[in-house]
Amino acid sequence: MMHNRIDLRSDTVTWPTPAMREAMASAPVGDDVYGDDPTVNELEAAAADILGKESALFAASGTMGNQLAIMAQVNRGDEIILSERSHIVVHEAGAAAILSGAQLRCLPVQNGLMDLTQLEQTIRKHPEDIHSPRTALICLENADSDGRILPSDYLSAVRALADRYSIPIHLDGARLFNAEAGGSLTAKEIASMVDTVQICLSKGLCAPVGSLLAGPRDVIALARRKRKILGGGMRQAGILAAAGLLALQEQRQRLADDHDLARWIYDELSRYPKWFRLEAEPEINMVFFRLTGFPFSEQELFEKLAERNILINEADDHVFRVVTHYWVTKEDAAQLIRTLVSIGESV
Ligand SMILES: *Cc1c(COP(=O)(O)O)cnc(C)c1O
Repeated sequence: MMHNRIDLRSDTVTWPTPAMREAMASAPVGDDVYGDDPTVNELEAAAADILGKESALFAASGTMGNQLAIMAQVNRGDEIILSERSHIVVHEAGAAAILSGAQLRCLPVQNGLMDLTQLEQTIRKHPEDIHSPRTALICLENADSDGRILPSDYLSAVRALADRYSIPIHLDGARLFNAEAGGSLTAKEIASMVDTVQICLSKGLCAPVGSLLAGPRDVIALARRKRKILGGGMRQAGILAAAGLLALQEQRQRLADDHDLARWIYDELSRYPKWFRLEAEPEINMVFFRLTGFPFSEQELFEKLAERNILINEADDHVFRVVTHYWVTKEDAAQLIRTLVSIGESV
């Protein structure tokens, strides 16, 4: 495989593994809209089993999986309570408003966590009042886009609160298996504290396409209908599901390696406090840092790295993010550090 650049922008840049390409080429397929694609059926069953849910549904993307969970559980004018930093709020192009007519109640977070008192205050207490919207859903994200893993006592506290008011919880688990690899709970234990959960196969797990939404049988059946509405009923989707099966069976086990490599990069960068100020210690496959006293601007650093075939995103609010994944080797990580140092020393 040609590997002439080091791509640290995201774990979504991962190509399928050679084993995935082989499995895709030989996958048994059928028409999934008829329900007879054996590979899709196997993938959905495997995901339901791993997540401890009654049923699962293959979706084109994480965004589609999240939106199907909302479409299946939220009526027009209903409210969803969630973090103001969540993917559903920031990165899904207003889909919850467009597709479900949902009203998003966005709460601030500290270290990624909503304040539980504020969460309880935000829940609508009088749905029978004709003035009052109904709180239909609480959404969480684990791991979150800032690379944090939700503590298990926070998860159980939100669960207890949701139960008190009979509100379902949807978990955006785009990186659920990173939370599993980096934290104290298994994916199944985390999923047991929520009603529906969306997982991405196409991030650190290397599948080219796809997500799964898992949950109670009736919710998933409704989501399947909503998926058709979105044009997401795909035909011989087993070609994609074949890669998804390997994502769950093989890639899931190795995410801890990505976390170790992120940790290594973090430790190396910490040796240059005159140039880099590290954010919190990595919990998953992401390292965040700022420049401090570096002889070049953020934009210049970004460009100089790109000239040397090392890709990272431009700084977001002065914070750079480096993401490790299957296609980033230890040698690539060492190359990143060497290159940063040589740029720093080049004045
Ligand atoms: C990537 C991601 C998604 C879904 O992304 P798609 O690009 O639509 O697959 C959802 N939530 C979070 C937190 C993500 O990081």
